[in-house]
Amino acid sequence: MTKTGLRRDRFDLAAGLAYLNGNSLGPLPAAAPARMDQVMRAEWGKSLIRGWNEHDWMGWPDQLGDRIGRLIGAAPGTVSVGDTLSLKLFQAVSSAHALSGRKVILGDNGNFPSDLYMAAAVPGAELRVVAPEEVAAHLTEEVGVLMLTEVDYRTARRHDMAALTAQAQALGIVTVWDLAHSAGAIPVDLARSNADFAVGCTYKYLNAGPGAPAFFYAAPRHHEAMQNPLPGWLGHAAPFAFEQSYRPAPGVARMRVGTPPVLALAALESALDLWDGLEMRDVYQVACGLLDQLVDGIEARCPDLQMVSPRHADQRGSHVSFAHPEGYAIMQALIARGVIGDFRAPDVIRFGIAPLYNGTRDVAHTLETLTEVMTQRLWDHPDYRKKARVT
Ligand SMILES: *Cc1c(COP(=O)(O)O)cnc(C)c1O
Repeated sequence: MTKTGLRRDRFDLAAGLAYLNGNSLGPLPAAAPARMDQVMRAEWGKSLIRGWNEHDWMGWPDQLGDRIGRLIGAAPGTVSVGDTLSLKLFQAVSSAHALSGRKVILGDNGNFPSDLYMAAAVPGAELRVVAPEEVAAHLTEEVGVLMLTEVDYRTARRHDMAALTAQAQALGIVTVWDLAHSAGAIPVDLARSNADFAVGCTYKYLNAGPGAPAFFYAAPRHHEAMQNPLPGWLGHAAPFAFEQSYRPAPGVARMRVGTPPVLALAALESALDLWDGLEMRDVYQVACGLLDQLVDGIEARCPDLQMVSPRHADQRGSHVSFAHPEGYAIMQALIARGVIGDFRAPDVIRFGIAPLYNGTRDVAHTLETLTEVMTQRLWDHPDYRKKARVT
């Protein structure tokens, strides 16, 4: 077990803070500002337009994609970075829908709402939404696409990716997995699970900063046939030929839409450096120990909080959630005391554990503070009930 986290000294994170919100926005890698400054001043500032070639900016989405690939069991050349997760999800679902030749997209109500909105907007598709535990029973030959978020953003409940993928594929269904709460949080093996498509973001457990670009994975067997529903010029086989009509680039590069966000990619590069020398499996092992400590402590000391996450580590991601009617105020009271988690409507508070910067010290700090807040009703204050724009 680690007291302060495996790489805490490589983050710019105040010493007294228990930051348990890597499931929403990871903290700042200490090397990122200097790297971004270098890219801005030395590369953009000096090279100007020549930077695309001199610094190979155009190659970064694939290079960084390969580095993310190591963390999610994806072979080199199968992951590309860019755009936001909502867009990448739309591309993946739309592409899977076309490949399946069937109308129905099956999702569950544990999907992040944006994913459901996007799937419902796929032309010609009919979105069907069921409860997470009913997904397997609704896999039939009528279904074309199975779209699931592996780890539920609210409860942390985890789907069995390999089993559901196998069951779906036996019925001719194409799978799309959202790894927003998996990448950098739990071991994922896309190749072994035989997933068809996967997408995820880099600003949660991968620490690349607010609004950092998303990633897109396609199994090699789909690289030839998959179509990009948003065929921008940078997914073209020859963008600088400026042809009148679209010809897809080979492989996942065809899922590019527009110009790569070079400055944001510089921050992502610094964030991925922090994973060098670490195996996801080992990081997750540490997370499990910390999560158990946290859950045991909360259940023993704060009986009013009702755990809504699965009890067994192999059925959940790297956060735990508790329900309470005053959840919002409770979290505000915690934040005011240096314990940062978050709140999800209607009544859930979440604590994310990211062993790169979380350790037993954070768990102890959280337990002490939470116990105080609950036993002394410190949350019962009008200031803590004022809802901010972002919760
Ligand atoms: C965080 C999250 C998103 C957010 O999408 P953006 O386009 O990056 O805003 C989408 N889906 C899931 C499952 C998420 O957890």
